Amino acid sequence: MGAYLSVPSWWRNLDGRYRLELGQCPDCGAHTFPAEGACVECNSTADFETVEPEGTGEVVAGTTITGGAPPEFADLQTQEGSFGVAVVELDEGARVPGMLTDCDPTTVERGDRVEAVVRRIYEQEGIVRYGVKFRPMD
Ligand SMILES: [Zn+2]
Repeated sequence: MGAYLSVPSWWRNLDGRYRLELGQCPDCGAHTFPAEGACVECNSTADFETVEPEGTGEVVAGTTITGGAPPEFADLQTQEGSFGVAVVELDEGARVPGMLTDCDPTTVERGDRVEAVVRRIYEQEGIVRYGVKFRPMD
């Protein structure tokens, strides 16, 4: 079976910038993404406590991009055709935008459970940029 790493362990060991770090409001406890600015719940500007989410959540809105992607996504679109994007409400409550992966984006619906995974997003100036995408959970 080789070096199996469970998804939660793998997720916890990722570099911080790939973990969708959330800001937890010290006044009301709500989570904001990204962890900067004012609290989405109570508008408090007190310093956030950084929190790492589990990386799971639910699709609250989504669409499929079939053309007219920004230039950095042009190659992706050429290789893979249409791609899905969604706003995911993490189980911690913060809403995060991201691309969908490992699925036919037209089948992803509001309310579907998804988990965050790190994937190649695009290549620019010879450097591959990675980021978080969401894939449907069984
Ligand atoms: Zn708050």
